[in-house]
Amino acid sequence: MPVSGLGDYDNANIFARILRGEVPCREVFRDRFALAFHDIQPRAPVHVLVIPTGRYVSMADFSARASQEEIAGFFKAVGSVAKALGLEEPGYRILANMGGHAHQEVPHFHVHIFGGRPLGAMLVE
Ligand code: AMP
Repeated sequence: MPVSGLGDYDNANIFARILRGEVPCREVFRDRFALAFHDIQPRAPVHVLVIPTGRYVSMADFSARASQEEIAGFFKAVGSVAKALGLEEPGYRILANMGGHAHQEVPHFHVHIFGGRPLGAMLVE
């Protein structure tokens, strides 16, 4: 059962296709829990997406259904990818859009990592 208002997991979503190798990506990191790759439309000098390898629609779905091991493995990957990208010292921002108000476009849970310049205020008013 879906947790959020985004419906059931769609195996044809673009990130599912990237995970299966059907669509290319600029891969940064991959392990059992996570795949990281460059966003196709970067909004900052560094804009990388980290996605779980499991089938989760959203943050709501991931936090409700993923195992402790998957959650820990995924968020460790987010931190180590940001570090490997050289973003720890200057700083970076992570962001996960969830559902309609946040304008989530791809229905496979993902975390954005932004960096490479001062990022300004948290939200545009
Ligand atoms: P969101 O609005 O949080 O769902 O963000 C989805 C992100 O996925 C956007 O920043 C898109 O630019 C990015 N995106 C969509 N298709 C691809 C793709 N094929 N490869 C890399 N990034 C993509």
